[in-house]
Amino acid sequence: MAQLSDDCFAFGGPLLSVEAAEALIAERVPPLAAEESLTLAEATGRVLARDLRAPLPLPPFFNSAVDGYAFRHADLTPGEHCLLPLAGRIAAGHAMAEALPPGHAARIFTGAPMPPGADTVVMQEDAAADAARVRVPPGLKPGANARPSGEDVAEGALALAAGRRLRAPEIGLAAALGLAKLSVRPRVRVGVFSTGDELAAPGTPLGPAQAFDSNRFTLLALLSRLPVAASDLGILPDDPAATAAALRAAAGTHDLLLTSGGVSTGEEDHVRAAIESGGRLVFWRLAVKPGRPAAMGVIGGTPVIGLPGNPVAAVVTFLHLARPLVLRLAGAAPEPLLRIRAKAGFAYRKKAGRREYVRVRLRDGIATKFEREGAGLLTSLTQSDAFAELPEPVLAVSPGDAVTLLPFAALF
Ligand code: AMP
Ligand code: MG
Repeated sequence: MAQLSDDCFAFGGPLLSVEAAEALIAERVPPLAAEESLTLAEATGRVLARDLRAPLPLPPFFNSAVDGYAFRHADLTPGEHCLLPLAGRIAAGHAMAEALPPGHAARIFTGAPMPPGADTVVMQEDAAADAARVRVPPGLKPGANARPSGEDVAEGALALAAGRRLRAPEIGLAAALGLAKLSVRPRVRVGVFSTGDELAAPGTPLGPAQAFDSNRFTLLALLSRLPVAASDLGILPDDPAATAAALRAAAGTHDLLLTSGGVSTGEEDHVRAAIESGGRLVFWRLAVKPGRPAAMGVIGGTPVIGLPGNPVAAVVTFLHLARPLVLRLAGAAPEPLLRIRAKAGFAYRKKAGRREYVRVRLRDGIATKFEREGAGLLTSLTQSDAFAELPEPVLAVSPGDAVTLLPFAALF
């Protein structure tokens, strides 16, 4: 399904800040239009297409939060132990039809409806009871241990806004509201290519000048956390015509294409030219390290992102370009990456004007730099806990400085 006109991004600058790239995506890319109705299990991980208003209050009725004894608070004598005769027993799933007689208490269990007239519950651990009476200690506030109807969600309130990603808590809330199916956005169809004559697919023999393709699998794994139907489109050779033809063909059947590698200025880098020959290039350099060569364009209405080949650069640019673009196409509300603050346990110098991501380990609030810096080091990701995000104007970090971290637990 064609999404974009090839010239929808009217940006001509050569080197774009991460912020400007994210703004371009947020402002220019329209979400996919379709919606479908799916069961809660099927809807998990998708994006809610319509606002969900509560058709009933949560909890649906006034109920006990504990196992104990329900009574009227007004029947207690302040500051004293009170003996209340027992009148009735209410288990979860059953209601007491008649009102609680004044001056009495009812045995009650967690989740059972409060008997009409009662407003307060004493926990069984705090009460002394025999078959006929319960002794209530002083100090209970009116309404203690009881859950009013609608205290969680009022009837008619906005429970989940359109654009919400449906994770475990959202699915649980929808179920509590009695919904068996939800109206959701379609999965974004993302095609993933690797590029490079040096690459061999894992499971195939490795030639003498070859390395195994890792980016395709990293990217597919990253996409598996998003509302995406991903297709693995294999490895493209370093050949301009083959690259252009493959991108053009795949654009017709996908909502987004991702490539990695081949996007620099080398003679064997053909992705940028392929985008230009099939459509329009939006930008091709991002002011970020690792990750500077990263192209974005549109071919036949389908956005194409050319990520850099070095594995860490591919991940960093995926997070800043591909992830927000997928979420945007999926109709999801913007989800800024989780950032936490920590203290730098390292010294570092950087250039002004670009954002840098330094791999760090995090222990007791102190971020320690991974020893080596190469953008090709896969173990710099497997052996670190977070990216330290050093903003564009920063020139140096010293031990003890506050730094912002993107924890891997929220990214991967
Ligand atoms: P390129 O931008 O194509 O020159 O690639 C930069 C570096 O990343 C080279 O060392 C490539 O071999 C490496 N590279 C490119 N694509 C991949 C891939 N899919 N998996 C692992 N490494 C890659
Ligand atoms: Mg290459």
